Amino acid sequence: MDVFYLTHLFMPLYEYIAEFPDTDKCCRICKKGFELRRPVDRDPLVSCPLCRNPVSKVISQVNTPKIAKPFSVTDAKKAGFTVLEKRDEGVFEKQ
Ligand SMILES: [Zn+2]
Repeated sequence: MDVFYLTHLFMPLYEYIAEFPDTDKCCRICKKGFELRRPVDRDPLVSCPLCRNPVSKVISQVNTPKIAKPFSVTDAKKAGFTVLEKRDEGVFEKQ
């Protein structure tokens, strides 16, 4: 099985949040933060699909206590995700 083909098709779930959540122009969705599934080779989302205000991708959940949503490898598996662990350079092993 071609693992690279697998990872290419994989659509990760990204979290976005308004860059300026304190302005009234932001809609409820981006003010709180939202999740969006996008192909890995797609350009990152820069504005909210609803209100067009600038949003930024949430890189680490550690820095965003507002979005309290545990997402460990175990949770990911429970949710039906295929978890790929990077072993060596370019080699992925299904956990
Ligand atoms: Zn918005």
